[in-house]
Amino acid sequence: MSVIESLTLMLALVYLASLNYWSGKKWGALATILLTASAVATSLYWPLALGFILALTFAAILHKFAPASLKGEVKINTLRQTSQHILALSLFLVAIQYTINTLLLKQGITPWLTRPDVVDAFLPIAGGIELKAIISLNLWDQTHPAAAVMLAAVLLTGLICKRAFCGWSCPLGLAGEYLYALRKRVISAELAPPAWLDWPLRMLKYLLLLALCYIVIGMPTQAIPYYLQGNYHKIADVKMALFFVTPGIITLICFGAILALAAWRRQGFCRYLCPYGALLGVLSFASPLKIRRNPQHCLIEAKGMKCDKCTRACPANIVVHTQTTVRSDECQACMRCVAACPKSPALGFALKSGQRVSHKGLLALILLVLFALPLLAYLNGFWHSQTPDYIRMELIPIIERIGH
Ligand code: SF4
Ligand code: SF4
Repeated sequence: MSVIESLTLMLALVYLASLNYWSGKKWGALATILLTASAVATSLYWPLALGFILALTFAAILHKFAPASLKGEVKINTLRQTSQHILALSLFLVAIQYTINTLLLKQGITPWLTRPDVVDAFLPIAGGIELKAIISLNLWDQTHPAAAVMLAAVLLTGLICKRAFCGWSCPLGLAGEYLYALRKRVISAELAPPAWLDWPLRMLKYLLLLALCYIVIGMPTQAIPYYLQGNYHKIADVKMALFFVTPGIITLICFGAILALAAWRRQGFCRYLCPYGALLGVLSFASPLKIRRNPQHCLIEAKGMKCDKCTRACPANIVVHTQTTVRSDECQACMRCVAACPKSPALGFALKSGQRVSHKGLLALILLVLFALPLLAYLNGFWHSQTPDYIRMELIPIIERIGH
């Protein structure tokens, strides 16, 4: 685990403890800090210890100069955007570190910068095959273990809190928001497609998901060990990186189309093309937490007023003000509708029983799943790739000839 991964992980867990503490869950806070401290101590790994110390220092500084942000007592949209930007910054630094590491390997130089294993999160097919290997063969891949860990963590967020991963963590979603805002500055008109076209377009991402599932499910179980030991799997991350860094003309056209889509329609990529979003959308039907409207408090039924502020705030075009429960697979649990509601008891992210989860609680859930699971995996030796640098060095020059 690299320094930037360790620091991000420790910042997330210390912040999780802080959210627990200031929400009155003192035992939860104590357990989080004690478990994190013991994980750091048992790992005997200096980047984790450094990350822990820095995270505690940062928390102390926030407590002195910006206590509201440490307590999560900021507006819903501020908390969500801050979380998105910090995670995006961390991934940006990870991408730089990975690029340097790979360039050094390409030149035959033993890297002085560790390969950040979290980049394997961008290998969802490999992650799916690895999860299948664990379930069907009890075979734990040691080439890209972080791919399975991150896929499992993201899927778990879908089961627990709908597409909150998309709304609160995904850097692509954030980039899409910026592109859309930029386009709106130039052409202010809303360019959403008509409803008859919107639905078939939304189904595109499910077709892509089906194609990816076909690769994973269609691979015969007995072939999995050979795939996981093969050179293609060993170098899959570099192949993926080359795909982005040295794109061909077709790839460039596809990238251009994706960027245009994101700029054209708010959340266009998430809504129409992202297979991860499709997978989380399917899982989100099982999520016990959903946006729920309470007609007893909503201004429409309670006061006979006209109100649709929740609907107008929704970036996914979900008609919230006429439903009691938002079940839509497009709901990213972003809570913009909750932030826009003038009557706070009327709308919330809640269980069927009515028990609500605040924006702080939702962020705490996301941090717990996305960061505690990788830490646990790391402590159990299932995070760091065991492929030695010399093998990667040997494979990179012949990468074009390596197929699966
Ligand atoms: S319904 Fe609410 S939480 Fe869901 S996407 Fe729309 S604004 Fe976000
Ligand atoms: S914004 Fe609140 S009060 Fe208005 S319709 Fe939506 S839930 Fe009801």
